[in-house]
Amino acid sequence: MKRRHFVEKSGCGLLGVALAYFGLASCKKEEEAPAVEAAASAPAEEVPVEMSRKDVIKKLLVERMGKTDGEATAMMAEFEEKLGMVKEMCICRTCPSYVPEETEKGFCHPLIEQSKLITEEKGCDCPKCPVYKNMALKNGYYCTRKSELEQEAAKLV
Ligand code: SF4
Ligand code: SF4
Repeated sequence: MKRRHFVEKSGCGLLGVALAYFGLASCKKEEEAPAVEAAASAPAEEVPVEMSRKDVIKKLLVERMGKTDGEATAMMAEFEEKLGMVKEMCICRTCPSYVPEETEKGFCHPLIEQSKLITEEKGCDCPKCPVYKNMALKNGYYCTRKSELEQEAAKLV
């Protein structure tokens, strides 16, 4: 996909997309953002409940990156909107670190968890990927080191 199409599909400017992706800004106005799925209601008993991926990322945006709840909600909507496009453009499957048993891709995206199957870092093709270039990503080995947002958040500690 050409860069122009990428930006058009994204619904906002490249800078806005990149900033939104990094969790530093959203190119969509807060009031335009669709509601994010409500968190699972807590059980009556005090049984630890594993947080969903969306909950983990939203918590990170608020608690680690200083976003308001409204900003985080708008950003989560952006992430969900971009997910299909990122997976479509992802070139992980031809990377030397990818393993045949893995079925997931788009590990740079905040809504994709790191791989449970890719464990050896044998080279990362991310810098060759159109997503990497168009989103101005800075890191790599997302399959083993977590998403761009999480790697950037880790630097804030
Ligand atoms: S940057 Fe890497 S993880 Fe992200 S879509 Fe491209 S190849 Fe996949
Ligand atoms: S995230 Fe990077 S290292 Fe991992 S499979 Fe994708 S291209 Fe390869």
